[in-house]
Amino acid sequence: MALVGAGPGHPGLLTLRAVECLRQADLVLYDRLVPVRLLEHASSSARLLCVEELPARHPDRYPQIHQTMIDAARQGLRVVRLKGGDPFLFGRGAEEAEALRAAGVPYEVVPGVTAALGASACAGIPLTHRQHASAVALVTGHEQPDKAESQLDWGALARFPGTLVFYMGIARLPHIVRSLIENGKPADVPAAAVHWGTTSRQRTVEATLEGLPARVAEMGIAAPALVIVGPVVGMREKISWFEDRPLFGKRVLVTRPRHQAADLVRRLEELGASALVLPTVEVLELEDWSAVDRALAELPRCQWLVFTSANGVHALMRRLFAGGRDLRALGHLRLAVIGPATGDALRSYHLMPDAMPAEHNSEGLVAALRPLVTGQRVLLARADRGLDLLREQLSTVAEVEQVAVYRQVDHFLAPADEALESLRRGEVDYATLTSSNIARALILGVGEEVRERMKKGAPGLVTISPRTSAAVRELEMPVAGEAQTYTTEGVLEALCLLARR
Ligand code: SAH
Repeated sequence: MALVGAGPGHPGLLTLRAVECLRQADLVLYDRLVPVRLLEHASSSARLLCVEELPARHPDRYPQIHQTMIDAARQGLRVVRLKGGDPFLFGRGAEEAEALRAAGVPYEVVPGVTAALGASACAGIPLTHRQHASAVALVTGHEQPDKAESQLDWGALARFPGTLVFYMGIARLPHIVRSLIENGKPADVPAAAVHWGTTSRQRTVEATLEGLPARVAEMGIAAPALVIVGPVVGMREKISWFEDRPLFGKRVLVTRPRHQAADLVRRLEELGASALVLPTVEVLELEDWSAVDRALAELPRCQWLVFTSANGVHALMRRLFAGGRDLRALGHLRLAVIGPATGDALRSYHLMPDAMPAEHNSEGLVAALRPLVTGQRVLLARADRGLDLLREQLSTVAEVEQVAVYRQVDHFLAPADEALESLRRGEVDYATLTSSNIARALILGVGEEVRERMKKGAPGLVTISPRTSAAVRELEMPVAGEAQTYTTEGVLEALCLLARR
């Protein structure tokens, strides 16, 4: 049994021990504010239960939480109680530990990056500073409204020689500010509220202490948010970084097959965007391998093997290995790839591409290969759908055989899909379209309502190449941006350019 801190929200701000505990868990009992992304560390057989699903309502839920943990632990299950930030900071972690101890259930506590540290880092507000603050106080702003019961000594807080950080303070911000000023805190001390710190939804507002409630209301800042009070807030101007990233605050749709989405998602997040994944096409195994097997048997007579996608590389390799053969079957061949991602797929098998065009499309590949393959025999390994251009144009100079090594089908967009819901609500800024098939599948699959929005440019459609742009325009949709180099990096550059405008 482990009480585990989940950190402030960013999926990377989890400790290694937290990940280990999650991997081994049979039951993960998590708080509402814990981002679902973190739950991906749990094994697929683990049961994931949000405490909100327990029958009772807050705060009567606590006995339920305790009992659920105790019962599961007694059944011998490995239980992780995953709590936002740090379990022992304003999270009733101690009460949970007490209940476990009383029940005789052994436990460990895994600390987490608390919201104050996360927000401090990502808002560019150091909590201490040699000149401005030698101490920091973490304070709960969520107290019984009945002042008689208040445990907070507002006089002491107003005099506190350092930075004040209020958790759960947004709802009672006017009260907090008034109490501090009435007790002698200067009304013009810098203050800030940080909403969803460390995540791509982070928003920060700054004002004087006195002016903060109005600014917060004006900007619609709601929980979860921290309120930071002190001269250190002024450092933000000099050292903020998180909110300056090129795609900060942008919501970007990733439409690639799920198994290929992770890299693009990570890159988007590094650039400050939040990514929503809505796969519009799927990559499937062939049902009938006979044509591929024939082509593989013919390989000794070929001089070139050409790949136009990473999926093609992996599919062909899998089939080769499944037949009990290995890379030596390709030893005599020269290898060509359409672009860097396909090249990387080859390199993952320790094979180096011999040719890659400067322009990563079929025309580029034709131009690069024509002089190299003249008079030779070429095998093209590709999807079961796509352009025929490569075969057509190379056939004039070489003996070309083309074989589909995987299937690509449009993915049915489930109406209840969360990303699709976000599109419907108009919450997506850009959609990335990394092939013509993907573009068509998205535009035709999203439904009339979203299509109408798209026509007006929401979300902006950003394509990987002129060919993909043409597919978009054919369906009477506007193209907001187009990659200069036909790679996902090119798409990211186009996005950054758009966001800068
Ligand atoms: N144990 C948690 C705090 C739980 S209390 C921790 O150590 O962080 C919940 C409060 O934490 C929220 O009301 C909000 O004030 C703060 N909080 C949690 N996550 C936050 C985030 N990402 N950004 C800003 N405040 C956050």
